[in-house]
Amino acid sequence: MIKTEFAVIGGSYAGLSAALQLARARRDVTVVDAGLRRNRFVDAAGGTAHGFLSRDGSAPGAIAAKARQQLQRYSTVRWMEGMADDAKQRDDGRFTLRVGNEQLDAGRLVLAIGVRDELPSVEGLLERWGRSIFHCPYCHGYELDAGPIGIIAASELAQHHALMLPDWGTPTLFLNGAYELTDDELEAFARRGTAVETARVVRIEGVADVVLADGRTLSMNGLFTQPRTHIASPIADQLGCALVQGLMGVHIQVDAMQQTSVPNVFACGDAAYVAGNVAMAVADGVRAGVSAHRSSMS
Ligand code: FAD
Ligand code: MG
Repeated sequence: MIKTEFAVIGGSYAGLSAALQLARARRDVTVVDAGLRRNRFVDAAGGTAHGFLSRDGSAPGAIAAKARQQLQRYSTVRWMEGMADDAKQRDDGRFTLRVGNEQLDAGRLVLAIGVRDELPSVEGLLERWGRSIFHCPYCHGYELDAGPIGIIAASELAQHHALMLPDWGTPTLFLNGAYELTDDELEAFARRGTAVETARVVRIEGVADVVLADGRTLSMNGLFTQPRTHIASPIADQLGCALVQGLMGVHIQVDAMQQTSVPNVFACGDAAYVAGNVAMAVADGVRAGVSAHRSSMS
């Protein structure tokens, strides 16, 4: 049994940021991390992350690795690799979690567990996720060189991409039977210069070539789609944290200081937000770390 004052579950941007505040308050903090960052697909493709001040164009893994190295200089930090599971609150108010063969006993929890993306099932899409297929134009739109950009519709959320992406290139919305467009939407797309294709998408080939059921292949510089997000671990559920149905998927309900519905459980990053990014996860993490620290004084 490992006893700790604070357990931060998830050691990526949000969790590292929360743990750093606690470490700097000289508190005992254990970070548990399964190592499955949401943007690891970008690293696998040799790509870069964008939009995070002073790290624009860095590999996402390098940003996290540097932060981890800096955090681990603090002597009160313990790092555990693995997936935390079987989370319970005991009668005395403390928490227990299982990490592999170890039991962790923690006074307070910060959940920084992130989300996983469920992609539409189009052949060739999954292996290009984070390489030439993305969801966030702010993160990956600029690099498409203002060229042809495809939008593979997964749901009505595609309309946001269809209206935004003309600022990054010449978009074509591939409806792929995901939903029906209204006349108003068609007019709005025409005003913005977004083309619409109704033929079914058979598969993606090459960098971002869209093969259609009628035999045509349209070559794009890159593609966007709208994943459904799922909280990456069941521990928020196990603890009884209230969840919220957001636009893209379910996330953990938090107040303005990242407190969940369960006392002494805080949450931050993508798992506690509608549509996060690295900067938001880092900011949320600071708030969660500070809140957890302050709650330990009363
Ligand atoms: P994550 O980074 O997902 O980390 C969560 C961590 O918690 C993981 O290591 C996971 O394994 C761990 N974990 C989960 N459950 C448990 C458990 N029970 N026990 C132990 N560990 C657990 N954002 C940008 O700002 N710029 C970009 O350019 C950018 N590009 C992106 C490209 C792609 C393809 C994708 C999918 C996302 C991109 N993002 C980008 C978004 C960014 O990845 C997320 O906003 C960010 O990773 C959220 O950080 P987080 O710490 O909340 O969660
Ligand atoms: Mg928030």
